[in-house]
Amino acid sequence: MSVLALAFAAVLLLWAAVLLAFAGPLAARWREPVLRQPVLIIESDDWGAGPLAQAEALIRLSALLQGIRDVSGRPAIMTLGVILEVPDGARIAASGGAAYHALTLADSRFATVRTAMLAGIQAGVLVPQLHGQSHYWPAAILAAAQTDSDVRSWLLSPEPASTETLPPYLQTRWVDAAHLPSHSLASEAIRQAVELEVATYQSLFGRVPRVAVATTFVWNEIVEDAWAKAGIEAIVTPGHRATNRDSTGQPGGIDATMLSGECSPDGPVYLVRDVYFEPALGHGPERLVKGLNQRVRQGRACLVETHRFNFLQSLDASLATLEIGLNSALTACPALRFMSPLELAHAMNARDPAWIETRLMPRLIAWRARLDEIPRFRRVAQLSGLVWPLAWLGRAA
Ligand SMILES: [Zn+2]
Repeated sequence: MSVLALAFAAVLLLWAAVLLAFAGPLAARWREPVLRQPVLIIESDDWGAGPLAQAEALIRLSALLQGIRDVSGRPAIMTLGVILEVPDGARIAASGGAAYHALTLADSRFATVRTAMLAGIQAGVLVPQLHGQSHYWPAAILAAAQTDSDVRSWLLSPEPASTETLPPYLQTRWVDAAHLPSHSLASEAIRQAVELEVATYQSLFGRVPRVAVATTFVWNEIVEDAWAKAGIEAIVTPGHRATNRDSTGQPGGIDATMLSGECSPDGPVYLVRDVYFEPALGHGPERLVKGLNQRVRQGRACLVETHRFNFLQSLDASLATLEIGLNSALTACPALRFMSPLELAHAMNARDPAWIETRLMPRLIAWRARLDEIPRFRRVAQLSGLVWPLAWLGRAA
């Protein structure tokens, strides 16, 4: 065997070793479905029980979305992560702050908000999904209010509260973060809470929720199991599952990572939402287009995270930025399609050939585009020269 052949064999062996060392994440990205069409979903959290100014924001959002159509003629879609109750400050104050009372979205005070939501749902542009009965764990808020005067005045306020003004760790529903690091909730308490929120959601929207997104992206397998038993089919994630709040109040205890299309051991499909678009924080429309372009290269749907605070703090400016962003996305990707998270989950589950790529070359190209996100892989691929054959795959695009 010539020296050249030996060297070539050694390089091939080296590449094989690199591929073997990263086999897990490489295989996961190969299994992850590749979309045939660019897909954009605007996901907006925190709507529901809360400030009455939401009604006008929802009416104007619905009108905006109806005016923007994809290539199939379908209007743009925005999900509403729905919160079903806020504190009933007057009643809690009457108890001296000792007992928690809720003001649910079913209360007559929220009639205009409900009407605006339902009109947008009817028009096919707003898609509700479960965010939580409350954007906090009630017992934790009650306990925190004993020692924190800001939390106490928030809790006792007679006006429907904005949970956005709570300290972030207290906005987490599925842990007790009254004291940090947070404490786990009893399994039975979680199960009962999920039963309550699913029943409340059903009474308001006429059907059980089928997509759930945990407040502040902190939840655990007990929540997931309870959601699955209650009929949840898809769980929106940031790509990992944080299970607690650490001693500094940050999300911690990450015990799972996931890609879109993977299934929870309990059954629901995971979706990954990882493009952040908050116009009130200075995010421009180009951020939406950049996120879309990158995910299209990766054969992924672009799930964009935004929140109601954008549309409560600066309605006109946030609507304008969203409108420019959606129109720019259509210009950048004329084949763009709008769809709901549940439709995406179903298409992935069924490997629907109308949406999911089956041809080898497009799948390889998308797989190549996903690899740079694997920690350390890019560096190792450069050092080993594996980057050359991978670059060839990229150029084949
Ligand atoms: Zn939220």
